[in-house]
Amino acid sequence: MNIKVIVDKDKCTGCRACETNCPVNAISFLADREGFLAPQIDKNICIECGKCYVKCPSNTDYCKNLAEVGYVVQYGKTKLTKQSASGGAFVGLAIYFLEKCKALVVGASLCDDLVVRHIVISSSKEITKLQNSKYVQSNIGNIYKIVAEALKNNKIVLFTGTPCQIAGLYASLPQKEYSNLYTADIVCHGVPSPFFLKRSLDENSKTKQGKVVSYKFRHKNPITKSTSSYIMMMKMMRGLPIVREPKNDPYFNLFMQGMSFRESCYQCRYACLTRPGDFTMGDCDSKMFYPDFHPKESNSILLINSEKARKIWNAVKKEFDYVSLDVQREANYNHQLKHPYVRPTERDELYNVIFTNDWKIVNNKFSKIPSKIARYKLLLLAFIPNGIINIYSKIRNYFN
Ligand SMILES: Cc1cc2nc3c(=O)[nH]c(=O)nc-3n(C[C@H](O)[C@H](O)[C@H](O)COP(=O)(O)OP(=O)(O)OC[C@H]3O[C@@H](n4cnc5c(N)ncnc54)[C@H](O)[C@@H]3O)c2cc1C
Repeated sequence: MNIKVIVDKDKCTGCRACETNCPVNAISFLADREGFLAPQIDKNICIECGKCYVKCPSNTDYCKNLAEVGYVVQYGKTKLTKQSASGGAFVGLAIYFLEKCKALVVGASLCDDLVVRHIVISSSKEITKLQNSKYVQSNIGNIYKIVAEALKNNKIVLFTGTPCQIAGLYASLPQKEYSNLYTADIVCHGVPSPFFLKRSLDENSKTKQGKVVSYKFRHKNPITKSTSSYIMMMKMMRGLPIVREPKNDPYFNLFMQGMSFRESCYQCRYACLTRPGDFTMGDCDSKMFYPDFHPKESNSILLINSEKARKIWNAVKKEFDYVSLDVQREANYNHQLKHPYVRPTERDELYNVIFTNDWKIVNNKFSKIPSKIARYKLLLLAFIPNGIINIYSKIRNYFN
């Protein structure tokens, strides 16, 4: 049995459940020509048991929870929430699990080699490793096996990730109810290729400031209350960080325009209100209907999709500021709660263009190179308190 026949390439999310389920280790995951990990079967080892087909989340439905109840949330510990992409739905939940349940928490982390991988943490001291959105497909590695072992040893686990990764986890575990497993999926519009990100970081490492040593896609002003801006901030080996708006960076620009996603993202079966996770976390896109709720900050949504999640929410809610969310209305604004991202026709040739051309050509084609002044202005705006920016704008408007 050949997995290429079982799962259309366009439908394979790269969740790696087939690899975990294979009883003879005949399946490995290698990067395809776009840099996404895809299954390869060693036909000499394969015993054609069909487990990979039956368990594949593209063939079997692991979405069991209808999201009907949800909240707009802002986690109370402001210092920690500053590191989050929006209102700290994740960090609030994770801290509760780590401190009150002595649980393990699993999520996507930017590792020292700048690759995003799923890792396990056991202490709230490590929480920043999992915070903030890394806009790239995270490598799951052998995390499902580690989780299976922990569950067997009666550890409580909170597993977080994209909905396809949550489905991948359920598909990898023996089918039974796990009272010690909790899952939280994110609203996700799609994931770009890790190779594309690597190329972008390698090219940016050729500047005078030396190598990129870390990066972030969502930035909050560190001093004052602020919404998180879609700003790519690369810390460099020397000197000032590189700070870019999406339009000034080909990687970020193509991500924001939904052009660089994995093919399966455009037919994502999880882009709806039936979710694989006990919880769903996302940005609150219907914020305008809650004008008095933390108006100057980015708020998260936290959907409570199962009875297990409801019990946890009742225990943890005192740690959050929250108001009830109109889930259906949120889905009208947060589109990937209703349908997958619509595939742009430019996607056809995109990966040929970005991998075969000189980076200068890619840069010119897909981004606007900012002037030196614009670069410094953005850098200042990222760190200066909002109040000062407002006073500056008022003075400038007065004289204009
Ligand atoms: C690729 C991607 C696309 C997204 N698209 C949308 C969207 O269309 N609409 C929307 O409302 N929200 C989207 N989000 C979620 C959003 O960016 C925030 O993560 C969410 O609002 C929760 O914010 P937070 O402040 O609670 O936590 P954060 O601290 O920002 O969230 C951390 C959580 O995100 C997980 N995570 C981070 N990066 C990845 C990754 N690469 N793969 C898997 N899990 C990851 C971590 O494991 C952790 O659970 C997306 C996130 C990602 C990574």
